[in-house]
Amino acid sequence: MRFDVLTLFPGMFPPVLSDSIIGRAQAKGLLELNFINIRDYTTDKHGRVDDYPYGGGAGMLMQAEPVVRAFRAITADLDYRPVCIYMTPQGQVFRQETARRIAKDFSHVVLLCGHYEGIDERALEEIVDFELSIGDYVLTGGEIPAMAVIDAVSRMIPGVLGGQEESFREESLYDGKLLEYPQYTRPEVFEGKRVPEVLLSGHHANIESWRKEQSLLRTKMKRPELLEEET
Ligand code: SAM
Repeated sequence: MRFDVLTLFPGMFPPVLSDSIIGRAQAKGLLELNFINIRDYTTDKHGRVDDYPYGGGAGMLMQAEPVVRAFRAITADLDYRPVCIYMTPQGQVFRQETARRIAKDFSHVVLLCGHYEGIDERALEEIVDFELSIGDYVLTGGEIPAMAVIDAVSRMIPGVLGGQEESFREESLYDGKLLEYPQYTRPEVFEGKRVPEVLLSGHHANIESWRKEQSLLRTKMKRPELLEEET
């Protein structure tokens, strides 16, 4: 899977996405990440990419031209058009189900990151297919949201979790409605607290039914609205 990120701050990405599972996925060739500096596509001789909004108001707006030129540079040599997603607090909220769908439906995704007050609407009309938000709050830029999307989508790609794909099927929210059961590792007793007996029993059916029950209890306690959404 390939992600191209259009951003004014490409240097923010490698420190976060070069290590651990996402780093290994790139090394194995399962994932290609490109960070494209929108500033490289301005025609302004001072390298300017933003300007005051027409009609007044606070802050600066990213200009349409460098954004559209950067996108066209990506697509110039392709015989298909990659999907383009704008990270914005105005988009649909990104959920596990969205990550699953993106991993399944697309092999090349362009993520557009705004900054300052956002991006000239005409660029969005020209290149964006849909918008995603990572939550109902406003960040300074789309870079952290884009990293969240890359991370969540990438772990849905077969092979990225190193043969542990089963693990994400059991994880919180995989099916959109249940949180994962509590988990324990060695030692059996930590500061007087014992691991639940059933997990030491080796009885797989009992373990499975305990986990299902715990999953449900936990969801009812922590995120009851997930169960309500289902009905
Ligand atoms: N003026 C914009 C508005 O009211 O919709 C907000 C601009 S925000 C300060 C700057 C950039 O950060 C946005 O263009 C977007 O790319 C990104 N951003 C901020 N919050 C976000 C969120 N919750 N999800 C995704 N992107 C976000």
